[in-house]
Amino acid sequence: MYFLMTNDVESFSIPLNRLSPDTAREVYEVGLPRLLDVYAKTDIRCTFYFTGRMVEMVPEAVELVLDHWHEIGCHGYDHSPDRAFDLMDLNEQIRELKRAKDVIGGTTGRHCEATVT
Ligand SMILES: [Zn+2]
Repeated sequence: MYFLMTNDVESFSIPLNRLSPDTAREVYEVGLPRLLDVYAKTDIRCTFYFTGRMVEMVPEAVELVLDHWHEIGCHGYDHSPDRAFDLMDLNEQIRELKRAKDVIGGTTGRHCEATVT
């Protein structure tokens, strides 16, 4: 059996319905450490799909995940509620993905797979 586990890592605040630096910081300081602890105790390796905006706000979050031997993926640039990816035209989608890949790849120094969920 093959088990896949993925996580989206972004700065979107559900209560505020917008991107928030405070949410990004809380994800880094509270959410990620809890998840990484659970995965360490259960011996599970995962893919963490970061938005480019999250990486810009808290670049050290990528290093934290890499330090725990998980994979980094791309979750688009910002996953903003104002700019739904599926409503963008093709050129906007390409720009969005390129921007995300540049930010995330620039932080990790690795090639970034362009998966948008
Ligand atoms: Zn998302």
